Amino acid sequence: MTGTPLAAAGIAQLEAEGVDTVIGTVVNPAGLTLAKTVPIRRTNAFADPGLGASPSWHAFAVDQSGIAFTPDVGVVGDQRLRIDVSALRIVGDGLAWAPAAFFEQDGTPVPACARGTLGRVEAALTEAGIEAVVGHEVEFLLVAPDGGRLPSTLWAQYGLAGILEHEAFVRDVTRSAGAAGIAIEQFHPEYGANQFELSLAPQSPVAAADQLVLLRLVIGRAARRHGVRISLSPKPFADGVGSGAHQHFSLTSPDGPLFSDGAGAHGMTAAGESAVAGLIGGLPAAQGVLCGSIVSGLRMHPGNWAGAYACWGTENREAAVRFITGGPGNPRGGNVEVKIVDPSANPYLASAAILGLALDGIKRQAALPPEITIDPATLSDSDRERDDVVGLARGQAEVIAALDNSLLLRGILGDPAVEMVVAVRRLEHERYGDLDTEQLADKFRMAWSL
Ligand code: GLU
Ligand code: MG
Repeated sequence: MTGTPLAAAGIAQLEAEGVDTVIGTVVNPAGLTLAKTVPIRRTNAFADPGLGASPSWHAFAVDQSGIAFTPDVGVVGDQRLRIDVSALRIVGDGLAWAPAAFFEQDGTPVPACARGTLGRVEAALTEAGIEAVVGHEVEFLLVAPDGGRLPSTLWAQYGLAGILEHEAFVRDVTRSAGAAGIAIEQFHPEYGANQFELSLAPQSPVAAADQLVLLRLVIGRAARRHGVRISLSPKPFADGVGSGAHQHFSLTSPDGPLFSDGAGAHGMTAAGESAVAGLIGGLPAAQGVLCGSIVSGLRMHPGNWAGAYACWGTENREAAVRFITGGPGNPRGGNVEVKIVDPSANPYLASAAILGLALDGIKRQAALPPEITIDPATLSDSDRERDDVVGLARGQAEVIAALDNSLLLRGILGDPAVEMVVAVRRLEHERYGDLDTEQLADKFRMAWSL
């Protein structure tokens, strides 16, 4: 739909609603949300031909200045950022937002573009007769404007005190998100001091990632109105909890859902089992896309509910893949939660990797590994070996190399997207790999903040 102009009536309606500025966002391979704005009268120019952006946008690193140039991404060239006006939302106080994607000047899609990549994976699923929906979770920490720790005198894990302490913020997010058309399912304090979580209603993959980006914008604006900021770091403080960006998905074929009403494990169909198998087998190679930043490894420890072992289990929060069985308590039906994703990831690329691995598993009828029904950290080494349970890597160099060497992920995402992720993560590793845990958490606490 990108490039389709907004009808004059649509522009007039935006003006009537007080919109003066349209903001268009992309998320780059380092997980940074980048943006340009136009005055309302330029909305359609932003959709087509789009606004200029150097290819270096794909290479911007998380340290506020680094650029991870590659043989293909240098100082020459200019691409076009085009907003998708069909996804435009009014976000209040004169601002509208739309997701953007990268195109060449001749209108062809840029292969490294994350939104375009997820669109291709969505099309491949459709081609295989499968419809996917994705539900995002957003965990974040409230911090002071300078990134400092806020008091947590009144706080309990999931405590009412956290809601009351930050009631004005919580209600502002709920109201603003509703007004912007975002479907929040729930919003609550999380385990860590000043940590909150929202979950979003499932949608088709690109629309779901768009909705996530919009929600982050809404939360960032609301936080400012209340004199605080959000940290989207996977490990905001060295001695504190981690934040995940779990993604749930479910798949449906013309014969029905793949994760409900089937004859396989916990209601999975044979294809559903293969999807889970494909996903688990691909996780070590996909870590670079799902949780590959310089701070991601600080979170990826057993005991953090981050899914530090590549295995699956029903409602198992220490498994990288938590299966959720359909039934009265889960009226949306069976679905799969990928726990290792963190907020430093590009959510479009993360969904593309997850769904691409699931599709690969289906196509080659991969066999589901044994279910892990206990905390995988408590298995003996020999049990882990027997059940094929792999501990996921914490070292960024290993994570990057696994992605770089994965023909499977290169096939799913395309070489240009993989190469840009590898380049930005390698820059992080080369420049900051020597920092200790505390220095890393401090330096990158606000790197992904909005
Ligand atoms: N904060 C945990 C993480 O880093 C997740 C907690 C939960 O299961 O919701 O992934
Ligand atoms: Mg959570």
